[in-house]
Amino acid sequence: MNMATRPLIAGNWKMNGTGAGIEELARLKTLLEEAGTVESDIVVCPPATLIHRAAQTVEGGPIRIGGQDCHSSVNGAHTGDISAAMLLDAGASHVILGHSERRADHGETDSIVRSKCEAALSGGLIPIVCVGETETERGEGNANQVVAEQLRGSLPEHFGNTPIVVAYEPIWAIGTGKTATPADIEEMHGHIRELLIERFGRSGEAARLLYGGSVKSDNAGTILSTPNVNGALVGGASLKANDFFSIIVAA
Ligand code: PGA
Repeated sequence: MNMATRPLIAGNWKMNGTGAGIEELARLKTLLEEAGTVESDIVVCPPATLIHRAAQTVEGGPIRIGGQDCHSSVNGAHTGDISAAMLLDAGASHVILGHSERRADHGETDSIVRSKCEAALSGGLIPIVCVGETETERGEGNANQVVAEQLRGSLPEHFGNTPIVVAYEPIWAIGTGKTATPADIEEMHGHIRELLIERFGRSGEAARLLYGGSVKSDNAGTILSTPNVNGALVGGASLKANDFFSIIVAA
């Protein structure tokens, strides 16, 4: 971990969670209160239906709430979609954008992700922009190039004063129990850091680079101590308060 950068541990509930999930969130809040000082920033991204309740539940504690997507428009005729302003209004401060599941399920291209990112920034949210290669792309030796291309296309020109957060999630490691080796993570995060510095200068240096893909309590310590890893984006293991808490503690 780059100790100058406060880690960010983000939980992505994906399409999981009803009212019962809110109880887990309340339990997480209690665990954090009992633990005392927290060394990381913590964001939980529940499904949109729970954002408002989640925000009320975590009020007064260290957990912040995020969305899992937003539309690129401010409002209008987009049935089923949610704007950045709506997420903010419901109590979110962050939004995950360009997750590989959205890229695959909803055909989100880099340029769509980029316009969503611009909308999130002007709507006052902190975007968490996801990139990552497939197993085939890695096997063919193209992982660095694929990720560079995604970054080039998905990130806007300017972040203003909003901190840059990028999540590197190798697609083959998501929900599979496989994780990239510490050496692979170090190499990719170093590569992403260089690209961000080249493009954004100081803000690139300060950007938080999260690793995602089967992060669990037993591998979090190793992953989070890898150079240029400034946090984690956690799927499955963020659903249970105890599991997520042990990852937060590992940071
Ligand atoms: P996982 O998901 O931790 O369940 O692998 C990570 C993600 O998709 O953000």
